[in-house]
Amino acid sequence: MNTIQNASIIGGAIAGMSAAIELRKRGVAVDLVEIDAQWRVYGAGITVSGAALRAFKALGIIQQVLDQGWCSDGAWTSGGRKCTLNLWAKTDH
Ligand SMILES: Cc1cc2nc3c(=O)[nH]c(=O)nc-3n(C[C@H](O)[C@H](O)[C@H](O)COP(=O)(O)OP(=O)(O)OC[C@H]3O[C@@H](n4cnc5c(N)ncnc54)[C@H](O)[C@@H]3O)c2cc1C
Repeated sequence: MNTIQNASIIGGAIAGMSAAIELRKRGVAVDLVEIDAQWRVYGAGITVSGAALRAFKALGIIQQVLDQGWCSDGAWTSGGRKCTLNLWAKTDH
């Protein structure tokens, strides 16, 4: 049984929404408040690296993230060498 049954989260951006998703999964009733009634975003793209992608997978929202973005399993160095990354290696548990 949870010792915490209710939580208030101030701010509905990535940290607040992630906390809300995880707390709800654990049976905590969440009230989330966001000061911006329009829920605006800056409009700039962001780079999301492996650790954040693994966190999105743990939250259960990785498919939505992949659907909205562009994902690569590697990167090219300035010397033209490809570094392959295994973004999912630590998530298959
Ligand atoms: C120009 C720019 C580019 C960036 N690019 C990247 C990138 O490429 N990759 C990356 O990983 N990170 C990037 N970052 C950093 C990233 O945006 C932040 O680390 C991340 O947004 C932090 O998330 P957060 O939920 O903690 O806070 P925030 O995103 O700051 O969200 C805080 C939320 O709380 C709300 N709020 C504030 N005060 C109140 C209040 N009193 N009551 C209710 N709600 C309130 C705000 O409206 C906001 O929605 C970038 C940041 C900037 C500014």
